[in-house]
Amino acid sequence: MIDAFIDELDLQALGFTRAQPAATGRPAYHPAILLKIYLYGYLHRVPSSRRLEREAQRNLEVIWLIGQLAPDFKTIADFRRDNGAAIRATCRQFIVLCRSLGLLSGGEVALDGSKFKAVNSHERNFTCAKLAKQMAKIESSIAGYMEALDQADRMDDETTRTQVERLQDKIATLRERMQALQAISEQLEASPDQQVSLTDPDARAMSTSTDPSGIVGYNVQAALDTKHHLIVAHEVTNVGSDRHHLTSMASQAQAAMGTVELTVLADRGYYAGEEILECQQAGITALVPKPLTSPAKAEGRFGKQDFVYEPDDDTYRCPAGERLTRRFASVEKGMTIYVYWTTRCAGCAFKAQCTTGRERRIRRWEHEAVLDAMEERLRARPEAMQVRKSTVEHAFGTLKGWMGATHFLTRGLTTTAAEMSLHVLAYNLKRVLGILGVQPLLAGIKA
Ligand code: SF4
Repeated sequence: MIDAFIDELDLQALGFTRAQPAATGRPAYHPAILLKIYLYGYLHRVPSSRRLEREAQRNLEVIWLIGQLAPDFKTIADFRRDNGAAIRATCRQFIVLCRSLGLLSGGEVALDGSKFKAVNSHERNFTCAKLAKQMAKIESSIAGYMEALDQADRMDDETTRTQVERLQDKIATLRERMQALQAISEQLEASPDQQVSLTDPDARAMSTSTDPSGIVGYNVQAALDTKHHLIVAHEVTNVGSDRHHLTSMASQAQAAMGTVELTVLADRGYYAGEEILECQQAGITALVPKPLTSPAKAEGRFGKQDFVYEPDDDTYRCPAGERLTRRFASVEKGMTIYVYWTTRCAGCAFKAQCTTGRERRIRRWEHEAVLDAMEERLRARPEAMQVRKSTVEHAFGTLKGWMGATHFLTRGLTTTAAEMSLHVLAYNLKRVLGILGVQPLLAGIKA
């Protein structure tokens, strides 16, 4: 299967380096050979280049697959590092094949993001707050040792002389550590997001829903077709929040599936007005539930959802039946916001349940009709979030299971992205083999 699929690809068009041998010098390994080793390795959970080097020498399947060649681990690792974009294009090519085999729904994807650990421990990741805390701790330790040193100096006998030497060593070690932290502090100031990771400079500390201490790693975005749960688009980012990925991921899925109209199902983390508007303008129908963040509701008062918008006269009807009219507009973070209120609040029987101010004000984004329409669509499809969950979440679980406890093996955004693309290709291939079987897939590849 691997042999047939890769032999059918136009590797030069996909962007692989050395697809055409140079006119002079010893020919390099053809990218098809290295891609076959990697795809075999990722399908069989052997992603390490050193282990793949050994497999190429002792595993009969690999020996057959690559025609008894034996590339060393560095050649194998360099191929993954240097061909990230081409490996990603190969993933897209596989989705084109799935499309031609009728395996895609053609119109609906579920989107989600998950945090994957990088090769960078918590101890080697720094934020300003963490650095300040560590520096304060070292300063206090140095002050403690200095005090102990003063006391020991005053006593001046044989025992205390050894103690003094020990204390001086400790202070010297702490001062060295302090200097190292000061160097990191300079790096932190130069870093745009005020974060520094020492082992993998692109990795970032991110919070997760399951681990309160969070992880140092990458946020992997994936859009899966709801028919057979194939990953049609993926992206590795070092931005912890999902909020700004809706349009870019949905557009990538739309292009991969070759469809004009697409519905994207995403969780509350993707709710952002501008993104939902952009999706609508690109012909993408977003279904994203609104986050429950109303402070008024949390404090037991009426939330915005208790006020009904009347589009005919551009007013809000409040729980007391009063009309809140549009008073003024303001621009906040580039968004035009209209503010509505009524002058009848002072004498209202519900005022205590409604506002702590003089009157209750309701704010409306100029494009809020797009969000209202989305809420209507969500009401009409109560199962949408269940479909999203059952489509996308198990894929991340499977990928993490394959990757093991440490997740990524490589460092840097570009190389980890190539690593993830190989996992995604292996995941999709395995899934299609499960759905169709080997012979129909082989026939599809050769068609
Ligand atoms: S306080 Fe004002 S906005 Fe609130 S229910 Fe009463 S009249 Fe309506």
